[in-house]
Amino acid sequence: MKKNLFSIILLVGLILSLNLQAQPLKKHGNLSVKGIQLTDEHGNATVLNGISYGWHNWWSPFYNKESVNWLATDWKCSAVRAAMGVEPKEGYLDKPDWSKEKVEAVVDGAIESGIYVLIDFHSHNIRLPEAKVFFTEMATKYGKYPNVIYELYNEPVKDSWTQVKEYSVELIKTIRAIDPDNVILVGSPHWDQDIHLAADDPILGFNNIMYTCHFYAGTHGQSLRDRCDYALNKGIPVFISESAGMEASGDGPINYAEWQKWIDWCTSNKISLISWSVSAKKETCSMIKPGVSVQGNWKESDLNESGIKTRELLRKQAEAEK
Ligand code: MG
Repeated sequence: MKKNLFSIILLVGLILSLNLQAQPLKKHGNLSVKGIQLTDEHGNATVLNGISYGWHNWWSPFYNKESVNWLATDWKCSAVRAAMGVEPKEGYLDKPDWSKEKVEAVVDGAIESGIYVLIDFHSHNIRLPEAKVFFTEMATKYGKYPNVIYELYNEPVKDSWTQVKEYSVELIKTIRAIDPDNVILVGSPHWDQDIHLAADDPILGFNNIMYTCHFYAGTHGQSLRDRCDYALNKGIPVFISESAGMEASGDGPINYAEWQKWIDWCTSNKISLISWSVSAKKETCSMIKPGVSVQGNWKESDLNESGIKTRELLRKQAEAEK
């Protein structure tokens, strides 16, 4: 009898924990890339919408499971992005073990919350040896989880596409030797603006590769969407792994009209969209007000304008996905 009771309690606990889990991972399972489209395990076109954490070296307190769970359940994110700063003080080059701990807190949180997670090597320069070590460890630890997406290079600044391509191919080979299938995101030159260069000379011979474009709607408009369209028309899968409504500096007013054009463009092309960022600096793109909890449970009064609007957008997108 005691044994039966124990089994029943276990079973109830299991059912409860499954029900508490957010839906995206359960719904979509393993992701892959078919043509230009991110696709789920059932062969359906899939769009991920979510939030990027700010640079971990400046915003490490936010890198915890509780905040991930809040973003999954209250903001209805289907993905979050762990932006592991590489070059600044307390970045990966300076404190590799501590940096990995922070990234892993977000990745483990995403796995527990049933959403997807981008592991972003948040660098502005090529750091191939360090990136190889990092992604070897990440692929070894997380390659079996369908939640994980690797982002090889946040935003190249001075590197040509030839250099970014060479770097990316090396890392893709490194990851694929360990993890045959999880989606890999490749950066494009000039702050992820020059996706047309990647489109003219794409990486061949690997599966489940997408290319990132970043936009800040106060600075980037139709001409950047034209480049993305050019890439799509050439068969290049596009993923917006960082974006926001204000100027590219992360500050200044939100350009609502242009931001909406980007959102509409993403919706009509079924493009995944990640917004920047979970941070608490006095600037437009920081979504959280300074001094509030770092573990989520945010009331609307704890959020800045970009946080309030992005949360609204994500909840709307999640509703449309149902
Ligand atoms: Mg895998």
